[in-house]
Amino acid sequence: MKKIYSYQDMKADLKVLSESYPEILRVFRLARTADGRWIYGIRLGNSCAEKRFVIQATMHAREWFNTELIMRMVSRACGQWEKNISYQGITYRNLLDGVCFFILPMVNPDGVAISQKGPKAVREDVLRNIVKESGRTYWYWKANARGVDLNRNYSTGFAADTRREKGSKEYAGKRPFSERETRALVKLIHTVKPMAVINYHSAGHLLYYKEDNWLVRLAKRLTGYKLCQETGEPNGNLGDWLSENRIPWCTIETCVGKAPAGRWQLSMEWKKHRNLLAEIALVIALPEKQEKKGSGQKRQ
Ligand SMILES: [Zn+2]
Repeated sequence: MKKIYSYQDMKADLKVLSESYPEILRVFRLARTADGRWIYGIRLGNSCAEKRFVIQATMHAREWFNTELIMRMVSRACGQWEKNISYQGITYRNLLDGVCFFILPMVNPDGVAISQKGPKAVREDVLRNIVKESGRTYWYWKANARGVDLNRNYSTGFAADTRREKGSKEYAGKRPFSERETRALVKLIHTVKPMAVINYHSAGHLLYYKEDNWLVRLAKRLTGYKLCQETGEPNGNLGDWLSENRIPWCTIETCVGKAPAGRWQLSMEWKKHRNLLAEIALVIALPEKQEKKGSGQKRQ
C-alpha cells in the first residue's frame, strides 16, 4: 500500500465516481486556493431533497488520512445504491432519495501537498518562501499555503495572535475569513443550509461538540470515541461559527497517535465509519430514530 493518499489520488477517484454514478453523484469545484488548486465537493443523493447535510475533512493539512476514509465511504454508498442493497431494512435507493450530502473530502489541498511533498510542491514563489521560512517540519504541516490555520480563521471568537507566526500552529490569519478556503466553506453552508455538519479531524478517537444532539449520539454509537464537550471561549474555529449560526455539528477526531496517521489504521477506522452515511440517511428517513436527548448515553 502506498504511504500517502494525495490530491491527485483524490482527483482520479472523483473522476471514476462521477462517471460511474451520474444519477446520484456530482463533483463540483467550490473554489480555487491561493496556490491554484481546486477545492472539490461531492453532491451525493437527491439534489431536490429538503434535508441536506455537510461533511468536511482535511481542513488541517496533515490530517489527509480522512480524505481517503471519506472517499471510501462515498464509494461504498454508491456501490450499495447500485446493487440496491438494504441497510436496516431500507434500500440504499430509498435512503439516498431522502437526503442530499455535500461532502468536501479535502478543504486544504495546498496544505496537503506541503505535508506530503514539502515546499517543492508549492507553485507560487511567495507562498513557497512562507513555507520555507517557517522552518516547520513539512510532514506535520497543518496550515494552508499562506501559513494560516484555517480552523482559527472563522469570525466567532477570532483572535489575531501577533505572537504566532505564519505556518505555526494556530496562526489565525490577519482577519476573519482572510482565506479562500474558509470563505468558500461558509458560502457553501449559507447556500446549502444543512441540517447538521460533520468536521473530520485527527487524531485521538474523540468527539468534540458544544451542544448535545442526535448527530453526536449517532457518532458515539458508531465509533465508540470519547465524548468531549467544548466549554471554553470561542477561538475562531468552525464549530464556534456553526454554534453561533445554530447549526448542529460534531467534530470527529479519527485515529490514534499523531497526524499524519499511518494508512495501517484504515482497516480499523473503516469498520467504524463505513456505515456513517447510511446511518445519517436512516435518521432522516425514520425521524423517530433520533434518540431522545440524554437517553441512556453516558457522557465520558
Ligand atoms: Zn484538525
